[in-house]
Amino acid sequence: MKAILLTLVCLQAALTVITAVASLCGRRAVVHVMPRWMQRMLRGYTGITLYPLGIFVQPEVWDAISWYNREKGRWARKVIRHESIHVEQQRETLGLFFLWYGVEYLFRRMFADHRDAYHGIAFEAEAYANDSDMDYLEHREPFAFTGYFRQRNWV
Ligand SMILES: [Zn+2]
Repeated sequence: MKAILLTLVCLQAALTVITAVASLCGRRAVVHVMPRWMQRMLRGYTGITLYPLGIFVQPEVWDAISWYNREKGRWARKVIRHESIHVEQQRETLGLFFLWYGVEYLFRRMFADHRDAYHGIAFEAEAYANDSDMDYLEHREPFAFTGYFRQRNWV
C-alpha cells in the first residue's frame, strides 16, 4: 500500500514537472489520430487530451477534418474545441487534472450513474458548456472550471 502510494506521488510529481516545463516553453497541443490500442480502449469517446503529448482523436474525427464535409466538419471542430479546453485545464492544474478528474468522478458516481457523473465533473461541465463557442479560449478566464463545481448530482 505504501509502495503504491509512493509510486503515485512520484508519478504525479514527474507529470507536474513535465507539464510545468512544457507549459513554460509555450507548448500547445498537437492533434494526433489515436493509436489502435487507444481506439479500442476508448471506444465511444471521440477524443482524449494528454498534455503535453497532445490531443488524440478517433479516426472519424480526423477524417471529418481532413475531408470536406459541412456537417461532420462542424462536429469534428467542436470535438477539437472541447479537447482544447482540457488542454488549458491540464496546463493550469499542472497535471493534477487526471488525479482530480478521477477523484471527482468516483465521488459523483456514488450519487449518480456513469453519464451524469461524467458530465458533472467540473472539467467536463466547462468543456461541454463552451465547446460550441468558437472564441471561447480567447476570452476564457484562467481556472474557469472552478465555476462549474456547483453542478451537483447529490442531495
Ligand atoms: Zn471532455
